[in-house]
Amino acid sequence: MTVTPEQLIRDEILALQAYSVAPTRGQVKLDAMENPYPWPGALLDDWLQMLREAGPALNRYPDAGAVELKRQLRQTFQVPDGAGLILGNGSDELIQLSALALARPGAVLLAPEPSFVMYRMVASFAGLDFAPVPLSQDFSLDPDVLLRNLRQRQPALCFFAYPNNPTGNRFDPALLDEAIRSAPGLVIIDEAYCAYSEHSFLSDVLRYDNLLVMRTLSKIGLAGLRLGFLCGPQNWLSQLEKLRLPYNISTLTQLSAGFALRRYPQLSAQAERLKVLRRELRYRLNALPGITAYPSETNFLTLRCPPGRAQVLHRGLREHGLLVKCLHAETLPAASPVRDCLRVTIGSETENILFFRSLSSLL
Ligand SMILES: *Cc1c(COP(=O)(O)O)cnc(C)c1O
Repeated sequence: MTVTPEQLIRDEILALQAYSVAPTRGQVKLDAMENPYPWPGALLDDWLQMLREAGPALNRYPDAGAVELKRQLRQTFQVPDGAGLILGNGSDELIQLSALALARPGAVLLAPEPSFVMYRMVASFAGLDFAPVPLSQDFSLDPDVLLRNLRQRQPALCFFAYPNNPTGNRFDPALLDEAIRSAPGLVIIDEAYCAYSEHSFLSDVLRYDNLLVMRTLSKIGLAGLRLGFLCGPQNWLSQLEKLRLPYNISTLTQLSAGFALRRYPQLSAQAERLKVLRRELRYRLNALPGITAYPSETNFLTLRCPPGRAQVLHRGLREHGLLVKCLHAETLPAASPVRDCLRVTIGSETENILFFRSLSSLL
């Protein structure tokens, strides 16, 4: 007897496109919000020395509770006393775990659109209905539209990327406060870009009984480690903890993240430097004819190209060896606020100049 995957795999999964990551060979990578600075040699030496001294026993399972790493995360990020903490293999894993936990039949996952694509994908993985809340043309959330969607769709789970990817802006905190209070379910504020932003909900996380704040080390320079965390009221986290696969944070990640967190000021200094480069690049881009680079509280810029040109410019940049993200697609609704838009990660000074020169030459 033969069986094909199509006969057995769930329809929602068959309908999905796999998340594709373009292979890179020597290109300037400005498409994934990575920190452009590799560790200097002396730091690499210290790291390898630390690993040698710690002598991680790779024949043994990791510390399942990651006790020491959690202590360091609490201290580094000033997690409020009394808040619980759960770690993920990247925050992607925590998005998935939350959706799985709340996927009762008919349950709804709500998020702004456009926002981080993983929210929609994970809704399909877990069998939740996805309720997109369209952003306004200026990338803000319209209070009437948001509150109406909350009322009508009654989401079990809401995600708000704060600041938002791919638009770079931060939503009005007073509106999010109202949304958390009127939401009938769990709200997760995803602060992946907090190092580049001027406000956070972390210190207020215990003022609500249905809010969790999510952070990741990826956008501050440790994307290769895969470490994210959720924090908030312990009663929610105790339930989510049941779904966490016991050894999801490897021994090498626990040791290396601990090492990096002891040097957190170096990482924040890089984030501060990138904020300066962001301001410079935005200023220069806005002087180009037909280009609008929007304000950003992240380590990327969202730019609008002359009508109908985004895809051609995206291809032209790729031919120059520069990878950026094209937000425009033929399939975008006519009213989408990211028509004709590209998203470019803030790179090193040299990379930003290369990008700027290429784009100007292509215009
Ligand atoms: C990049 C990004 C993440 C993913 O973070 P990982 O910890 O690398 O999985 C989560 N949320 C948003 C909004 C992001 O842009």
